[in-house]
Amino acid sequence: MAPPAVDGAEALERIAREIRSCTRCPLHQQRTQAVPGEGPPDAPLLFVGEGPGAEEDQQGRPFVGAAGRLLDRLLGSIRIPRERVFITNTVRCRPPGNREPHPDEVAACLPYLVRQMSVLRPRVVCLLGATATRALLGSDQKLNQVRGRALREGGRWWFATYHPAAALRSASLANALQEDFRRLRRLVDVEWGTDDPARWKPGALHKIFADPQPTEPVVVSEAGTLRVSWEVRGVHPTFRTESALAELLRRFVLRQRRAEAGVVLEVVKLQITDASGRPVPPESPDCTHLHAEVSPVGSGE
Ligand code: SF4
Repeated sequence: MAPPAVDGAEALERIAREIRSCTRCPLHQQRTQAVPGEGPPDAPLLFVGEGPGAEEDQQGRPFVGAAGRLLDRLLGSIRIPRERVFITNTVRCRPPGNREPHPDEVAACLPYLVRQMSVLRPRVVCLLGATATRALLGSDQKLNQVRGRALREGGRWWFATYHPAAALRSASLANALQEDFRRLRRLVDVEWGTDDPARWKPGALHKIFADPQPTEPVVVSEAGTLRVSWEVRGVHPTFRTESALAELLRRFVLRQRRAEAGVVLEVVKLQITDASGRPVPPESPDCTHLHAEVSPVGSGE
């Protein structure tokens, strides 16, 4: 007889129990208690910070100190209740003196996050600060180069921004963090309810464009593989990354070809150019067009 299915809350509690008794890295030696993270098992949005501070270490809960209160205010400002999101950290035991966790400590703790994510299956992951950004997006990623823009990787959205603790020390970072949260809300508005792009609501389309007039991709030739051109001049800066533009293009094409529901499309070639056809980075103000090949890769059923 098959073993009974483990529900999400139980699976998360099992992982939390392991974290509370973990001794995999030296950070366990000075902790009062480990901080596994908290939130509902079906949370569509996951926040990952750096590590517990003094108050988190005392209470065993994430983001309950000054940085946590700022996070609560930021969530409130974009109308997302804290109770609907899952909040955790890259390392689950407080680094002494709130120092940055060492790479070997991050590596030791990361498998817990991977397991929590396989239970939660969040649609959007928000990375708070450089430590979480490097741990999840790669050690070569610089926060200043990736923050405030959506990235699409491994079937979900990633969005990096400053850690609220850094914003407490700098007014300019606090303003940037607030603007990034507005962009995060834009991403959430686009993502919610879009598993089936045929049901994309007009309001979601208007979140994709800074310009009030949305533009649709145009299929320029069709022979198994579709060749598509899309004027992206008006796309909001939130979505001006190669991976985000490719994902949005894929969804637009799916939506246009709703008769072929169930077909999975993949963007196999992508070129981002200025008006004269010269390749430019997606965030460049000169970036106006996206040319792509989109190929059916089988049925989604
Ligand atoms: S930081 Fe993570 S890996 Fe290190 S002891 Fe704590 S729970 Fe274990």
